[in-house]
This record gives sequence, structure tokens and C-alpha cells, in this order.
Amino acid sequence: MVVKALERACVEVSPEIVRRTILFVDYLKKVNETVNLTAITDDETIGTRHLQDSWMLHPYIPERSTMIDVGSGAGFPGLALKIIRPDLDVTLLDSVRKKTDFLESAIALLDLRHARAIHGRAEELGRDYSYRDHFDIAVARAVTALPTLLELALPLVKPGGLLIAMKGRDDETPESVRALEQLKGRLEEVVSYELPDTDHARSFVIVRKLLPTPSRYPRRMAAIKKNPL
Ligand code: SAM
Repeated sequence: MVVKALERACVEVSPEIVRRTILFVDYLKKVNETVNLTAITDDETIGTRHLQDSWMLHPYIPERSTMIDVGSGAGFPGLALKIIRPDLDVTLLDSVRKKTDFLESAIALLDLRHARAIHGRAEELGRDYSYRDHFDIAVARAVTALPTLLELALPLVKPGGLLIAMKGRDDETPESVRALEQLKGRLEEVVSYELPDTDHARSFVIVRKLLPTPSRYPRRMAAIKKNPL
């Protein structure tokens, strides 16, 4: 399952990558028996829907980037990418403690350097000057609608850096024009593709951050919900 997923995502197969991936998947399945981390539990579907889907992103991530995965859940795409890209410095953010506990222990089990899990909310990290305008790249899969995701994730990206939102078939860019303008982002590209050997239509929405985040963003979640950009 692992080798097939790597090959389909055009990732070079190495014994170390295969070893770490198997270790990660076995650990995920074991912890998932008692802690609800993912609804996907069979090897074949973990291979396609989680690993392969995450790995498809790797050609878009520049070498040696500092990367934050916003709403990483059980580590997708951030931890899966770190396994195949040791050059990346990876921060996995999630607002649910049991998920970041799992991510922290997975990082230790796999003996990954330059990787960490943070328990917190993106909109709060975006107001913390250790993280604001900080990362080369932010990635996020299945977190929220694009206009809101822009407000959560773009403040964490440094000017000149990228946000890549992993999305499905629907084009959410028309309703994101205002958010892009307010948050100083520019839509670079929407890459549409089908997950190889499945019928899942997927897309990457690639946004370049042009300037530092204006001081009023990100707002508190209550304000974001009440009046989304
Ligand atoms: N990215 C993973 C994936 O694709 O499998 C998880 C997706 S899950 C549907 C969304 C995750 O985002 C959840 O783990 C949730 O706790 C987290 N999340 C939602 N809002 C967040 C926020 N404001 N800050 C940090 N994490 C958040």
C-alpha cells in the first residue's frame, strides 16, 4: 500500500521513507482504536485518501521551507509530507489537544527532527508575534471554507510566502476576492487533478502573500463567524 501510494504521487521510494510511513500508519491505527483521530481505518484508503493525497502536494513546496499545517488533525498533509521531505521544518497546528498529543508522540516515535506539534487556534497564533508573518508556507486540508481559511492561515505566512489550500472540486475563489484583498494575498494558481486511480476530484488553491497582515486581522472566531470576509 505504501509503495503504491508513493509511486502514484511520484515520490522516490526509499527504505527509510517506507519504514517510517508503515510505523506511522500502524501507530495511527492503534491510537485510533481509543482516540477518534480519523474515520478512515483500512490500509488501502489510508494509502489513497490520506497519504497519496498529502504527498501530491510535495512538488509545490520549495526546498527547506518552514511550513505550518493549519488544522493538521491526524497529520495530513503536514506529517505525511515531513516523512518524505526531511528538508522541511514542520509545525503541525491543531485546536484539539488529543490530536496534538498524538502528533507529538508520532513525531517522537518516527524520530523526526525539525518537527513539532502545537496545540492552539490559528486565529490566536496569528496574533502572536512569534508566529505572525513567520512561515514560508502554510498548508491546510479540510479545515473550513476558503474565505475563512484565508483569515486563519494567511496571517501566519511571511510576505512573499505561500498558502496552499487543499480543496475538492468546487471553485471557492470567486467568493474569496474580498478576503484576498483584505489579507494582502494574490491568487497564483488553482491546480485541479484527480487522485490517481480514484475518482476523487481535488484541487490546490495557491495564494501568494504580498504584504504583512493588516493589524485588524485575524479577528476573533466569533467575529469571523458573524461576518466572514
Ligand atoms: N487536515 C486534516 C485532514 O485533512 O485529515 C484534518 C481535517 S479536520 C476535518 C479539521 C481539523 O482542523 C480538526 O482537527 C480541527 O480540530 C482543526 N481546526 C479547526 N479549526 C481550527 C482552528 N481555528 N485552529 C486550529 N485548528 C483548527
